[in-house]
Amino acid sequence: MSRLAGKTALVTGSSRGIGRAVAVRLAREGALVAVHCATGREAAEEVVASIEKDGGRAFAVQAELGVPGDVHQLFLGVDEGLKERTGSASLDILVNNAGVMGGVSPEDTTPETFDRLFAINARAPFFIIQRALAGLAPGGRVINISSGLTRFANPEEIAYAMTKGAIEQLSMHFAKYLAPRGITVNSVAPGITRNGNPVFDIPEAVEQMAQLSAFGRVGEPQDVADVVAFLATDDARWITGAFIDATGGTLLG
Ligand code: NDP
Repeated sequence: MSRLAGKTALVTGSSRGIGRAVAVRLAREGALVAVHCATGREAAEEVVASIEKDGGRAFAVQAELGVPGDVHQLFLGVDEGLKERTGSASLDILVNNAGVMGGVSPEDTTPETFDRLFAINARAPFFIIQRALAGLAPGGRVINISSGLTRFANPEEIAYAMTKGAIEQLSMHFAKYLAPRGITVNSVAPGITRNGNPVFDIPEAVEQMAQLSAFGRVGEPQDVADVVAFLATDDARWITGAFIDATGGTLLG
């Protein structure tokens, strides 16, 4: 299927994990994808190579988010890559996926940790959308990756969950703002999803995490990527400002 043929996409944090699966899936649907990383340039180039091997189109962009000048640096690479390949910097699909978790108790959360979480997970997506506004094509898509933790309490992740609450707010208000241009803005909330974290190599830990999902398994990056791909297509044109639960039933309790 080529439901996204002729479309362009930026997926932040797509050198690995969920972002990688999203980039691969969007490219399989025909989109030209900017594969973004912070430090994993080699991994990003490998994602690009794997997309190209499958007949898709992609290019790598490196920019650390959460630091001064981050968004400028990101769009230098995105604009250049798009112009080189399409003749324009117009963007159809923006997936704000890059994010970091906290994993510290409330007592141990320092102002520095707190600020870093917000800078990467909430501030950067806001300013990425702001920067993308002019170039976002009519009928475009903004998809922000949130977390089931906005509705499932975990004291080790209070500050992280707060950043994801912020991203859901951002989705709702930008949805209203961009609807006149036919652009939809939605949040997708994964539950525990297998990424490169070594914890997923420990069978007992995986078994325990799997029990949180109604389906009795942990999520795979593709489980989330398929939801994001749906939102990116024209089939999802009537959904905006929504919170999409992609937790595999974790929030059912
Ligand atoms: P990973 O840790 O597997 O990958 C993170 C990606 O984000 C990498 O590509 C990394 O790039 C990039 N990244 C990290 N920090 C920065 C930064 N400062 N600037 C730019 N890019 C950065 O993440 P996941 O796949 O696990 O998570 C993806 C999204 O899904 C995140 O927003 C996360 O909060 C959310 N989520 C994940 C869940 C899970 O269980 N996995 C559950 C719920 C939500 P590089 O490799 O170059 O450093």
